[in-house]
Amino acid sequence: MKKRFVILGGGYAGVPVAYRLMQQGEDFLIINNRRYQTLTALLPDLVTGNIKDEDGILWLNTLFDKFLCATVEAIIPKENRVLVRDPQGVQHSIEYEYCVIALGWEPNIFLPQKGLFCVRDYPSALEIRKRLFDHLKSVIVCGGGFVGVETAGQIGRLSSHIGLEVTLVEAAPEILPTLPEDAQKEARRALQSLGVEVITGRAVKSVVDGVVLFENGETIRADMAIWAMGVRASRLVEEAGFSVDRLGRALVDQYLRSVDFENVFVAGDCAGTGQQMLGQIAVQQGKFLGTNLPRLVRGEKVKVPEFQYKGLTVKVGDKAAVAAIGETITFSGLLAVWLKKMIGKKYFLDIRL
Ligand SMILES: Cc1cc2nc3c(=O)[nH]c(=O)nc-3n(C[C@H](O)[C@H](O)[C@H](O)COP(=O)(O)OP(=O)(O)OC[C@H]3O[C@@H](n4cnc5c(N)ncnc54)[C@H](O)[C@@H]3O)c2cc1C
Repeated sequence: MKKRFVILGGGYAGVPVAYRLMQQGEDFLIINNRRYQTLTALLPDLVTGNIKDEDGILWLNTLFDKFLCATVEAIIPKENRVLVRDPQGVQHSIEYEYCVIALGWEPNIFLPQKGLFCVRDYPSALEIRKRLFDHLKSVIVCGGGFVGVETAGQIGRLSSHIGLEVTLVEAAPEILPTLPEDAQKEARRALQSLGVEVITGRAVKSVVDGVVLFENGETIRADMAIWAMGVRASRLVEEAGFSVDRLGRALVDQYLRSVDFENVFVAGDCAGTGQQMLGQIAVQQGKFLGTNLPRLVRGEKVKVPEFQYKGLTVKVGDKAAVAAIGETITFSGLLAVWLKKMIGKKYFLDIRL
């Protein structure tokens, strides 16, 4: 099979690309390993069943008729093709004229570990949820960035009902290290009011079967340890031979074109633009490529895009959230909870507009 545009990955970056190509009547194919996109920003809520399962996913097979459910196994840019495996286990080679790599992230696990769980996608959220409701008594969330804080907050929300002890550990002196100090303090307070113990300033050395060993030799243990200590780009990018940054993201020019192969574009968490790996950046990049790819590949002039970090809203449980808009404005409380909800809904408009 040969297609003009092949989009690898149907997530926050890939979906807006494909939608816009579809609107322009282009010959494209979008490939994703599941029939749906997991709305990653809602994963902490999916873990505890705080939202309906179908509200945490977006069906791709109904959004696109040019959709292939298959796992990309290798990108071979020198031969303009990718190898994919379909759900029946059959391998196919798909050729392209132009490729968009939008395969997203994977956990950046860099220390000895065994038996770690990751909040990664819908199936992994279900797996964690099953265990939480089964027989667990204690959970440690490793990593106090926004993923760890939201996950610990959601599990903390359950703790009074099902008698769970929840601990969040972070190496930096305070959780949410990239946010302003008042947002950090408010998030800590909200977590503690949900019964979550917050341990900061202690770096994790290893995690083995629920036993967390810190650099200073101390240990704590729980029935389940969850990884939230960082992400990197899909390893397929590095394996394909692209020049990458320290997070395995392919180096690109200002139009998201690979510096190695001029018929390959990269968006979202796989794109080495130096920006944070965030859904809001992925969506902006996806919208840019979807709109401009046909012109870019014809060699027409296109305005240099600016992909902007607009701030972050972090929900802690159900009734608290902290929002940091730009570098300076922070607020918390129900307004921040509402804002988080609205940002989630805006994605459905972003795909189309
Ligand atoms: C728990 C959590 C909460 C987050 N909350 C926020 C938030 O509130 N705000 C924010 O801005 N960002 C948030 N992020 C970050 C955000 O989710 C990512 O930056 C965003 O998903 C990146 O978009 P992407 O399109 O590059 O990757 P993704 O959205 O991950 O899309 C990649 C797609 O590729 C598919 N795929 C992967 N490998 C293969 C393969 N081999 N073959 C076929 N398909 C494959 C995946 O299934 C997925 O559908 C959060 C991340 C996590 C983990």
